[in-house]
Amino acid sequence: MKKVVILEPFLNCKASNSIIKSKEPNISTFRAITLFKKRFKVEFIDLKIDEIKQTALYNKLKDADFIFINVKSYNKLFSQKIINYSLNNMRSKVFVFGQIPSYDPFLIQGDGSANTKNYKRDDYRFVSSIKGEFYNFARYFIDDPKKYCKMDIIDLKTHKDFNDMDNIPMLDLKELKSRKYYTVYPLKGVKRNKWAFMNLTQGCPYNCIFCSQTLRISQGKQISHFSSDEAIKRIKRMLSNGFNAIRFNDDNFLSNKLFIRELCLKITKQNLKFRWMAQVRADSLDDKTLALMKKAGCESLNFGVESASERILRILEKGETLSSIDKAIKLCKKYKILTVNYYMIGAPSETLSEIKKSIDFSFRTKPDVLQIAYFTAYEGSSFFEKNKKIFLSNKEQVSYHYSNNKFNFSNIKKNKLKKIYRNWYLAYYLIHPFKSLRVIFNLLALRFFY
Ligand code: SF4
Repeated sequence: MKKVVILEPFLNCKASNSIIKSKEPNISTFRAITLFKKRFKVEFIDLKIDEIKQTALYNKLKDADFIFINVKSYNKLFSQKIINYSLNNMRSKVFVFGQIPSYDPFLIQGDGSANTKNYKRDDYRFVSSIKGEFYNFARYFIDDPKKYCKMDIIDLKTHKDFNDMDNIPMLDLKELKSRKYYTVYPLKGVKRNKWAFMNLTQGCPYNCIFCSQTLRISQGKQISHFSSDEAIKRIKRMLSNGFNAIRFNDDNFLSNKLFIRELCLKITKQNLKFRWMAQVRADSLDDKTLALMKKAGCESLNFGVESASERILRILEKGETLSSIDKAIKLCKKYKILTVNYYMIGAPSETLSEIKKSIDFSFRTKPDVLQIAYFTAYEGSSFFEKNKKIFLSNKEQVSYHYSNNKFNFSNIKKNKLKKIYRNWYLAYYLIHPFKSLRVIFNLLALRFFY
C-alpha cells in the first residue's frame, strides 16, 4: 500500500507575536485524512501539536510516496523550505493544497458551496517559485480525479441543496483524539474540557474587504449546512468518543438560523450534555435563537466588532451597524453567555479619534474576552486584490499577520498603532481583573490539566 504523509505546517516566521494561541485542528486537513485513509497508508503530522525535530520530519517524508502539504499565508516560507527539500532530496511526489497554492481547496474541504466560478485564480506565485515538480492537489484532481489514485472524491459541484453536507465523510476521530487540540477562549469555571472541533455550516455571503474566501473556514458565498439529524449524529459521535466540549468554528454559526434553532431543540430534547461555543455575526443574534442556544448548552460566542466608528464599518463593508453589535452584546449578557469580541485597528484611513471610539465602546460593553488585531487584508480579499501591487512588491508580505502591522493604511503612524495595541490590552485587562483571571485560569487549566 502506498504511503501518504499529510503535513500541517505551523508558523515559520515571527508573524504572530501573540503569546496566547489556540491549537485547533484544521478541519479540511482532517477531511483529507479521512478520504486518503480509504486508499493509502496515511501518516499525519501536525506541527502545531506534534513535537518533531527537523531530521525526524525529513525521515518521515523520505519514506512517503506522496506528500500533501497544507499551505497557509502564515506558513508559506516554512512550507516552501520543506517542499524544496522534498523535491530535491526525495522520490516522493509533493502535492500542495490549501489557501495559498490553490485558492480552491474545495475538493478536500468538502464544501458544497464552493464552485469554480468563485475561484478563477492565477495564483501560482507561491507554487511557481518552487523548483521542480509539484502538483496542485485541487486542480489536479478536478481535471481527472481518478487519474492519479483511486480515491473517493465527492463531486461537490453537483450538490445543490442544503443537505449536501451530509455526504461529507465523518472526521477521522483516531487522529483527532490522539492530539491535544484546544481553544484558548474560556468557558465558565475551570473544568476539564476535552475539546472537539466541528463546523456545521459553509459559506458566507458578506463582503468584508479584509476577509478572504479561501482563508476562512467556509469558502464560498453560498450557504449550506448539515441536516439537523446529521449534525446530531456527528455531535453524538464526538460525545461518545470522550469529547465534552465543542467549538463550532463555522465563520457564522447562525448563517441559517432556522437550522440552528432546530438543532438546539433536538440537542435539548435528546438531553445531550456538552458545553459549546461558536462564532457568529452580531447582527444574526436574536432573543429567541439565543434562548434556544443557551438551553442547548451554548456558553460563549465570538464575534467581530471591528470598530465602533460607523464610517470604518462602512469602509470595511462589514454590513453591520454599531447598534446591532450593541444589541448582540446586551443579549449575550441577558442569557449569561460569555462574549469574545474582536476589534481591529489600522483600518484604511482610520483616525485616532475613531480608534478612541472603539476603545470607549469596548470599555462600555465589557466583553469577557477582548481581542485586538491589526487590519489585515488576506490574500483573496477584495482589499488585497485592489492593492495587489503594493502587497506583492514588498517582502514583508510573507509575514503579514493580524498581530503585526507590516502594512499600514490608516492615518496613524505605525509606532503609534503599536502603542495603542499594547496599551488598550493592558488597560482593559487591568481594569477588569476578573476577566483577566478567567483567561489566566483557562490557560493554566490547559497547561496543567489538559
Ligand atoms: S469577516 Fe465574517 S462576515 Fe465578513 S465576509 Fe468574512 S466570514 Fe463573512
